[in-house]
Formats: sequence, structure tokens, C-alpha cells
Amino acid sequence: MKAALAIEGGSPVRSSMLPYGRQSVDEGDIAAVVEVLRSDWLTTGPKVAEFEAAFAAYVGAAHAVAVSSGTAALHAAAFACGLKAGDEAITTPLTFAATANCVVYQGARPVFADVRSDTLNLDADRVREKITNRTKALIPVDYTGQPADLDAMRAIAEEHNLTLIEDACHAPGATYKGRSVGALSTMTIFSTHPVKHLTTGEGGIITTDDPDLAHKLRVFRNHGLSNDAHERHQQGVWFYEMVALGYNYRLTDIQCALGLSQLKKVEGWLARRRAIAARYTEAFAELPGVDVPAVQADCEPAWHLFVILLDPEALRVGRAEIYRALRAENIGVNVHYVPVPWHPYYRELGYERGQWPVAEDAYERMLSLPIFPAMSDTDVDDVIQAVRKVVTNYRK
Ligand SMILES: *Cc1c(COP(=O)(O)O)cnc(C)c1O
Repeated sequence: MKAALAIEGGSPVRSSMLPYGRQSVDEGDIAAVVEVLRSDWLTTGPKVAEFEAAFAAYVGAAHAVAVSSGTAALHAAAFACGLKAGDEAITTPLTFAATANCVVYQGARPVFADVRSDTLNLDADRVREKITNRTKALIPVDYTGQPADLDAMRAIAEEHNLTLIEDACHAPGATYKGRSVGALSTMTIFSTHPVKHLTTGEGGIITTDDPDLAHKLRVFRNHGLSNDAHERHQQGVWFYEMVALGYNYRLTDIQCALGLSQLKKVEGWLARRRAIAARYTEAFAELPGVDVPAVQADCEPAWHLFVILLDPEALRVGRAEIYRALRAENIGVNVHYVPVPWHPYYRELGYERGQWPVAEDAYERMLSLPIFPAMSDTDVDDVIQAVRKVVTNYRK
């Protein structure tokens, strides 16, 4: 006998809602923050440089620049590579809006290229079709935590003299052909929002091997000033100059202390994410109506998200019904992402639906399942049980 769906009055698989992502904060993190609160520097003191050095070492990059959000990190990168009015930057429609917005902030135009049907990462052939003499930057996203086709992206960038800005907000700790994400593009962007791999409350990081870019990024995050308060304090120099139109995109010492404490645990969390992904993949590989994510042989994803694709041929209902039924079972499924050019703001700018058939079809079928390090084995079992229950109920 089939168990009745919660949405039809049956009892839910769980009694409380399981979110799709959640931070892990322990007493060590709290103590690290409190220590800074008792110190002389609340912002732009010693913890910023310490966090930057530790993060750069973690990903194997020469420089890391910490800013107030992943969005600020993208904006700083768009500034540092010189994007301006009349320029274009190519990116994916299947991302958070901030990836494209950073191009608009600089007065340039985002151009969306379609994705591969297997990994849902930017398709190099579609990128090539979009290149014009106005293209200045290429912004691939490591969607769900699986690195984009970085060799192909780098080859395109070199051939056409583009700056390669990798949005790796999903992918700290991921590897591509044995090399760590964060050291493979001209600039790589990370976020430390609570739903990402490690948190500073809000925060972002840009990594680069280029000292000139690192300097530009530091100037940009601090009002365009040629040096910061901590440096002036150390040097005893009162004079400063504004050399560019920057912003206040600084990350505080309070936040960097949290980041340093979190960074010590990130490898363990990554292992947990990978173990959960392996369990889902095994559980759903043979479940008709559900496709599990394709992983490239030479990649170790960081699994920010676990996105399943529903097969409309095998199911009596669409994604919206499956989403509601899983929510009723108290499984906090989500959708990542509404294609960026579909948003009303982008439609106003002249983007029209239907130009990215692979991304748009995937969007109609996708569901993100809960995945975060603090999930217990029981939580994972609940997700598996609920997906089986709902999908089996709605099978043709
Ligand atoms: C989270 C995220 C961002 C933005 O980061 P914030 O820290 O929230 O500003 C940008 N791009 C992608 C792909 C993200 O997942």
C-alpha cells in the first residue's frame, strides 16, 4: 500500500522543516568573535590580513582580498578588469542574479550563453558564438560546486584577450583536473554568506595571482583610497588620496575572526557534503522520474547544491506540484535558479525568453535537495524517503 502524501492529508515524512542549507557555528567560532570585540580593532585590523592569507593558502592563490559580500567581490572584479560602458561580458543564465549584475554596475552589458545539458555549466561552443569585438570578460559559474570547463574557458579567454572571472561561490574546495578552484582563473570569486561553505555572516573573497589586480581590488573596497586606516596607523601617515571611485566594501575584523575559525573546519564539512551527495546519487540513480547530477570524471565538486532534474515523461505532474508535495513532507526543497534574463529587470533591458533552450528546460525541471554539513544521517534518510514517496505517487 502506498503511504498517503502529506499534501493530500497523510502524515509528513518529518515533523519539522529541513532547510536546503544552513550554517554551522560552534563555541570556538563564538569565542573567536568575542575576542575581537574585546580588542582595539573592530574593522580592518590584523584579522583581515590573517583571514586573507589563510584563505589564499587554502585555495593555493597568491592573493586573497576580502570584501563585504560575494556581490561586492564580483563588482570589485568587474571594476579591476576595467569593464565599462560599451563593453560586454559573457556569463551563464543559470546563476544568481549578482553574477550578471556586476557587469551592469560597471555600465557594461551581460551576454548570456547557454549551458551544457549534462553539467549545466557554460557550454564553450555557445560561448564562442557570443564573442564580439566588445567582449572584455568571461564569467563562468561553477554551478552547484562543479567546476566549469575551465581549460576551455581559459583557452577562449586567451584567444580573445578576455579577463576570466570565475564565480566560484558554490565551489570552495572543489578540484578540477587535480588542481584547486581559486587558482585557475584570472580572478576567482567566493561568498561567505551563511548558506555557503563557510560563513562570516556576510562576506566575499576574490583570489588572484596578479599583484596589480589585488592592489586594484583593495583600493576599490576602500573608497578608492590609496591606503587604509590600518596601514596609516602603522606608518603614522595622515595623508591619503582617492585615486578611483571605490566603495565601502570592507569586511570587518569581527567577521574575519569568524572566517578564520570557520576555515579550520571547512575540509571536514566538504567531506560531509560529498558523503551526502554520494548517498543521494546512489538512492536516486535507479529512481524513474528523477535524474541525478552528472559529474565530470576529472572534477571533484564541492556540492553547494544537489540539484535533481525531474523527467516530465515519467510523471503525471510538473515541478510545481512535486515542489509543493515535498514541502508538505517538510523537506525544504528549493529552485536554483530562475534564469537571470527572465527577471523583469533584465526583460526591461531587452532580453527575451527562449534563447537558452538547455538552461530554460533544466530550470523547468530542477529541484535543489537539502545539503549542508550539519545534516544527520536521519535527515538524509528523510529526504530520500520523501523523494521516493512523492515521485512514486506521481509516476505515470
Ligand atoms: C551567493 C552567490 C553570489 C552572491 O554572494 P553574496 O555573498 O550573497 O552577495 C554570487 N554568485 C553566486 C553563484 C552565488 O551563489
